[in-house]
Amino acid sequence: MMKTKAFALLLATSFTLSAAAQTPSHFDGQSWWDHIKVLADDNLEGRDTGSRGEHEAEKYAVEQLKLSGAEPAGSDGFYQPVKFVSRQIVEKDSSVTLIKDGKREPLVLGEDIIVSTRVMPAPEVAAGLVFVGYGLKIPEKNYDDLAGLDLKGKIVVIFGSSPERIPGALSSHYQTMAERWKSLRAAGAVGVITVMNPASMDIPWSRIALNRTHPSMDLDYPEFNETEGDKLGAYMNPASAEKLFAGSGHTFSEIAALGKDRKPLPRFPLAVSVEVKTQVEVTRLESANVVAKLPGSDSALKNEYVVLSAHIDHVGIGEPINGDKIYNGAMDDGSGSALVLDMAASFKKNPEKLRRSILLVLVTGEEKGLLGSKYFAAHPTVPAKSIVADVNADMFLPIVPLKIMTIQGLDESDLADRAREIAQSMGVKVQADPEPERNVFIRSDQYNFIRHGVPSVMMDVGAEKGSPEQKVFKDWLTQRYHAPSDDINQPVDLAAAAKYEEITRALLINVANDAQRPSWKPQSFFRRYSAGN
Ligand SMILES: [Zn+2]
Repeated sequence: MMKTKAFALLLATSFTLSAAAQTPSHFDGQSWWDHIKVLADDNLEGRDTGSRGEHEAEKYAVEQLKLSGAEPAGSDGFYQPVKFVSRQIVEKDSSVTLIKDGKREPLVLGEDIIVSTRVMPAPEVAAGLVFVGYGLKIPEKNYDDLAGLDLKGKIVVIFGSSPERIPGALSSHYQTMAERWKSLRAAGAVGVITVMNPASMDIPWSRIALNRTHPSMDLDYPEFNETEGDKLGAYMNPASAEKLFAGSGHTFSEIAALGKDRKPLPRFPLAVSVEVKTQVEVTRLESANVVAKLPGSDSALKNEYVVLSAHIDHVGIGEPINGDKIYNGAMDDGSGSALVLDMAASFKKNPEKLRRSILLVLVTGEEKGLLGSKYFAAHPTVPAKSIVADVNADMFLPIVPLKIMTIQGLDESDLADRAREIAQSMGVKVQADPEPERNVFIRSDQYNFIRHGVPSVMMDVGAEKGSPEQKVFKDWLTQRYHAPSDDINQPVDLAAAAKYEEITRALLINVANDAQRPSWKPQSFFRRYSAGN
């Protein structure tokens, strides 16, 4: 008992602990895993946004939060309702045809190309194609892939990566649909075909194609329409991409070889044009974020909030793989949701004097494009300016011992510095994202807090480049990520999970109790969103 208290107190006040004093003491990994067993049970059917299973998962979360003494902090008790529009392509009434020298070549949907419904496609679009390299315009770095090209009325073809000379967080930011479309629209483009980078695909094409007709969703509020004028968003199988480059004087293999090392790419008009017809079924549905708080004790600072977030939704039921059609989402993001519940319980079991309040946010719709967090960040259930930080946990993968941690946003804020020092004080090394081309920085909910000026981090169990552990992660992504086998029958390292939770707890306590709220680094690009903070 005494050791625990002294330990927490030290962490809150200083970072100069020796590694020897660092036995995790609040978590055993087991209670975390027990929550995952519930959330990733087949009975919850993969927790698709708006589904019965997701609803059940949220009910379980609310019960657990109540047991831990957390208070409701949504707009409707623990809940914040969110409305969605759902879009499903009708493939039999949809087609993509390439046209070259008057000759028509139909593409096979699913095999050659996938028409995304994340952006509502126009019923019909026909346009010439221009290859625009990485398709990025980044004024801060004097970088412009669109310069000198006539893109009026054209569909652009993009190689799905980013150039080496642009820092990871910045290039990820400009690769978001909203940011990318701003510059493409200004240049007159009417659609985008992304050729996936074979060197950085987390999931093999065959698995992506398997669930291509699963409905996609968007927030059902006009304020979130960020792709006005975009008539087509499609993804090309790299194995079929030569078809786009025929007659252009370039080959896709040449492009992929340069792109693999993120080298500069040529940009040029293509010799083929495209004709696309799409039929989409549109429905509307509702889900909710879950929001709870652990109130702080300081009379002034308790009105400020440190957010701990994770997404409770996953992708639901899909095409069967090895006879299993339930995509359980144990790690993605049962692991983060379980951490939030476990964290609340740990503060009940080992109370800690918190000056600021901790806001526990379990968002919906992450898998559909970070939608629940987008809604929450735009319409928080506490005053926007009172949110001082977001610590997001999404698929942090304690499947190897926790010796090194990857921190997303490491160079952007002093929140990341605090995370680094805490991790190091517990004998864990820290690294920036070793694979920025995977764009993890924009692929989870912290990004929406960042867009609203809130210093944010996401931490993951990491591996050094070229290490055996890195192979473990790579294999996990290939085989289990967004597959039915991300379930409770997979090996996990409970000690790594416990240590990760301990670091997260220490970070929350630090931010809750420090006199200063976290701030962006002066040189951080993302500082611009924090006007007035
Ligand atoms: Zn996911």
